[in-house]
Amino acid sequence: MKQSDSLAVETVENAIQNSSGVIESKILDIARKLLDTYSYSEFQTYPRPSHPEVSKQKDIYFTMVAILISLRTTLEHEQEAVNAFLTQFSSPEDVMGSTPEEIAELIRVAGMPDKKANAILNATKYVIEVLDNDWEQFREMPLDQAREEIMKIPGVGQKSADCLLELGLDLPTIVIDVNMLRVVSRLFGLEWAKNPDLASASQLAEAKKIIEDNLQKDGFLYQIVHTMFLLHGKNICKSTPKCDKCQLREYCLYYKNSNGGMIQQALFEL
Ligand code: SF4
Repeated sequence: MKQSDSLAVETVENAIQNSSGVIESKILDIARKLLDTYSYSEFQTYPRPSHPEVSKQKDIYFTMVAILISLRTTLEHEQEAVNAFLTQFSSPEDVMGSTPEEIAELIRVAGMPDKKANAILNATKYVIEVLDNDWEQFREMPLDQAREEIMKIPGVGQKSADCLLELGLDLPTIVIDVNMLRVVSRLFGLEWAKNPDLASASQLAEAKKIIEDNLQKDGFLYQIVHTMFLLHGKNICKSTPKCDKCQLREYCLYYKNSNGGMIQQALFEL
């Protein structure tokens, strides 16, 4: 087991010891179970442990760039483009010395290179001129205010802001992407579990609330839960879920309410 995997396991197990509610225990038990299947260190979204210059990976500015590059592309293409970007640049000022064409060429593999290059340059200008590349200021603010302030960076919407808060600043907030929405909705039996819709603000808010209202406030714990649920959504709990292969059936309200679960329950009751 890699070092950051054992750290992830230890973090979740400690949290289980300290958990105080039924929903929190369920979230943590699920995360612990998934850590036996998925490697946290291999798949954590940011920072990329594979990059030789890990210090750059932990830099919040570069995390923001990685988030902008990650829009509408595959993980592999995103990683390739982010690595090329990180190899080329060492600071926001360095990036501002480049043309949109040069940046577009570097990140072309991730798709929409011109649009993303312009977005990176606009955001970088704001980071230098308005924020003075000082990200620590957001830690001093209440989470909602920090999110609003981060959303003032050109090109950074709510999901990207949540990514920055959770993955860049290690704050206890959760990003609800398509996989998270599907998995949380099914496990917790939300009414739209069959057809979760990423465009629905109320669905996103409710899924987010389930995690944030219950899980203890430890940023690393949020990153672990996010990564594990996301990987489960990508691999097993897909649009058409592979419930027969799923190790979470005992926790899953969607499964319990589906035919498979009912048949199994009926067999137990015989
Ligand atoms: S039992 Fe099925 S619906 Fe529930 S988490 Fe597993 S794959 Fe998803």
